[in-house]
Amino acid sequence: MNYKNPDENGYYGEFGGAFIPEMLYPNVEELQKSYLEIIESEDFQAEYQDLLKNYVGRATPLYFAKNLSKKYQTQIYLKREDLNHTGAHKINNALGQVLLAKRLGKTRIIAETGAGQHGVATATACALLGLECIVYMGEIDIQRQAPNVARMKMLGAEVVPATSGSKTLKDAVNEALRDWINNPQTTHYVIGSVVGPHPFPDLVARFQSIISKEIKEQLKEKIGRENPDYVIACVGGGSNAAGTFYHFVEEKDVKIIAAEAGGLGVDSGKSAATTFLGTLGVLHGSKSLVMQTEDGQVIEPHSISAGLDYPGIGPFHAHLFKEKRAEFFSINDDEALKCAFELTRLEGIIPALESSHALAVLDKKKFKENDVVVICLSGRGDKDMETYLKNL
Ligand SMILES: *Cc1c(COP(=O)(O)O)cnc(C)c1O
Repeated sequence: MNYKNPDENGYYGEFGGAFIPEMLYPNVEELQKSYLEIIESEDFQAEYQDLLKNYVGRATPLYFAKNLSKKYQTQIYLKREDLNHTGAHKINNALGQVLLAKRLGKTRIIAETGAGQHGVATATACALLGLECIVYMGEIDIQRQAPNVARMKMLGAEVVPATSGSKTLKDAVNEALRDWINNPQTTHYVIGSVVGPHPFPDLVARFQSIISKEIKEQLKEKIGRENPDYVIACVGGGSNAAGTFYHFVEEKDVKIIAAEAGGLGVDSGKSAATTFLGTLGVLHGSKSLVMQTEDGQVIEPHSISAGLDYPGIGPFHAHLFKEKRAEFFSINDDEALKCAFELTRLEGIIPALESSHALAVLDKKKFKENDVVVICLSGRGDKDMETYLKNL
């Protein structure tokens, strides 16, 4: 069984594919035909790897968290994606896609963003590489995430409010797709997670796979073996998790754990735990698990972290869930908050609220004393200070 790569039509088992309006066929087909050849070329890799090293600051450290390990009586390593330029893993993908867009001859970049981390990463890549950048963002998110809106503007991006629906992330995706339909020649849509029509889930997973590639090299150096016993990551759309799991999914000795946002609880009506609440459906161009009513209306998700506040999940993860290759936990808002404060006090690291959901698995599952447990710390907590202060 191959978990890592989709088939030629973009399917991971029964999930994936490309469900798009006819107007998008030329763009999506162009990408499907050319993405692998371009991103695997020597020339592309030379430029991309150089930027990851000298601009983003990779490799990010794999940090043995001594105090956290002592508390939970196991061996915990944190993959420090929070130390990337712009503060999260999103830049790995944004830079890769903007480089790809340039090679496709595009001059204009559009993106959607929820908390603003993907918008900031894309605006950063566009400033660096000299492309026009438009970021769609729900009107409500624009109000909740003022510092990231300011950063995008300073970087030269135009931030366009999405005013339909619940005025949050999924509405921003709809606006971005509409823009792309209207500007197929000039524009590339930089999708921010392992969602969307084929080839986006695979494209984004490949750009994020640097995370598990480095973990293998770093573990080999630190403990003499490449494989940990467990890898753990939070899942919104699933890009940091896909990157963390990528080089381990075919390794039988590595157990995989995903943490979803339970919100106020899976039965509360205010949740974003898609594998617990979702059913088979099509959202934003691919077939996957979706939180929806019986007649296919998308249910509004809720999470304390804007980055996990999404009613779907990437097809890669839906497949891991269905095949029971990964174990899924639902982490509630208060459980994530507790772990954010705990990591800050024990290790002096303020994590993003999203990443705190991955940390909270430590309270849900008992690990053995000798288990090597790698947790992806997907981002830093600067953007979440207002929420943290309210709960101090
Ligand atoms: C956006 C974001 C996430 C969620 O997105 P994924 O695609 O699921 O990784 C998680 N952590 C941080 C810090 C983010 O900015």
